[in-house]
Amino acid sequence: MKNEPLQVAVIGGGAAGFFAAISAKTHHPDAKVTIYEKSDKLLSKVRISGGGRCNVTHHCFDIRELVTNYPRGERPLKKAFGIFSPTDTIEWFKKRGVELKTESDGRMFPVTDDSSTIINCLMSETRKLGIAIKTKSNIKKLRKTEHGYELGLHRGGRVEADRVIVATGGSPRSSGFDWLRKLDHDIEEPVPSLFTFNMPDEPIRELMGVVADPVSVKIMGSKLQNSGPLLITHWGMSGPAILKLSAFGARELSDKDYRFTVLVNWAGERTEQEVRGILKTVVEGHGMKKTTNVNPFQLPGRLWNFLIDKLEVGDDMIWQNMGKKNINRLVHLITNDEYQVQGKTTFKEEFVTCGGVSLHDVDMKTMQSRKSPNLYFAGEVLDIDGVTGGFNFQAAWTTGYIAGLLA
Ligand SMILES: Cc1cc2nc3c(=O)[nH]c(=O)nc-3n(C[C@H](O)[C@H](O)[C@H](O)COP(=O)(O)OP(=O)(O)OC[C@H]3O[C@@H](n4cnc5c(N)ncnc54)[C@H](O)[C@@H]3O)c2cc1C
Repeated sequence: MKNEPLQVAVIGGGAAGFFAAISAKTHHPDAKVTIYEKSDKLLSKVRISGGGRCNVTHHCFDIRELVTNYPRGERPLKKAFGIFSPTDTIEWFKKRGVELKTESDGRMFPVTDDSSTIINCLMSETRKLGIAIKTKSNIKKLRKTEHGYELGLHRGGRVEADRVIVATGGSPRSSGFDWLRKLDHDIEEPVPSLFTFNMPDEPIRELMGVVADPVSVKIMGSKLQNSGPLLITHWGMSGPAILKLSAFGARELSDKDYRFTVLVNWAGERTEQEVRGILKTVVEGHGMKKTTNVNPFQLPGRLWNFLIDKLEVGDDMIWQNMGKKNINRLVHLITNDEYQVQGKTTFKEEFVTCGGVSLHDVDMKTMQSRKSPNLYFAGEVLDIDGVTGGFNFQAAWTTGYIAGLLA
């Protein structure tokens, strides 16, 4: 009697689902691999990712350093990156004719600067391998059977599979995970990550478009802090320093209902004492010059003028007339400038949900569920998320690849 082929169902036609399906078919050529996608579009986030360029991964090859970019999943990912790392991603795409290039901040894109290069590569690979793709197939139920799983489709109908890989992405609503809760998985509550700060009452918004780099930012009354470039926007503040803060503080800031005070150190990592020392040399060396005409921290001119304006010492104030009191006020303003945040805006370039299937319930060496055998997870459905820079796709490629090993 001929053996029936292993039936592998991959739920979700995004980056993680495609990578998992390709890995499954490559490692188990005799298996019948099918991707079920609820919408009529495949790889839709890949298409819009990185402003249409797709930031595929990050130029970071030290696993210990790499994992520090994941506010959720840092430690568990060490094992997974040991199996499939950014080096493997670069090689994987290269072998299939897709060259990646690195930008000065470490982000890696296809040399074409076009996300369709990545989509075409993944699509052609699935075609070549004979992976079946079923769109408009919303899987609503997953039931354990004697030999595997029964998948229940939204519009009725059932499918049987021996192994199932869940790659359904993040869900903004907790109820989106109910079908996985039914299989006894713990779900970390979803909240948004990677957002910008709204400051409706702050006049600094008039400086929209100004970038200060590097600055340090802290959230008052918490341990959250970060540094890097800060972009002033029409709504408030954005840029890598703010986005990283939003990712590492995703839960804490949600608990505060996105109302909190940000403290900005415009002099980067410099301490109050160092700033005071620099201002002392300015007073000594440029005493007769106007405060607006000497910009000791090389801040964008409009920003420096804005800060001097905030001191209310008058447009004509010269350095030697500042006096101890005003210098103290300026030191405080430069190193601890306070802004009130009232709400958030989703970052348009790249946003993710923090939360998802608890990593306690998943073996990170195989991506197999610890609660339900022969069930695997990949991508953002897991409680894994990274900061901006290609880290989220890297997690999708890595977990997808490992899940597809069906180990
Ligand atoms: C605008 C934007 C830009 C981004 N840019 C970048 C970037 O440049 N670099 C980077 O690293 N990250 C980026 N990200 C994050 C990255 O896109 C995600 O982390 C990544 O797409 C997650 O992949 P995934 O396959 O796990 O989930 P998704 O891409 O969300 O795919 C999940 C798929 O599953 C389907 N699905 C869900 N439920 C079901 C169901 N029940 N049955 C069947 N199908 C289902 C969905 O329709 C979807 O197609 C960006 C995100 C956004 C929103």
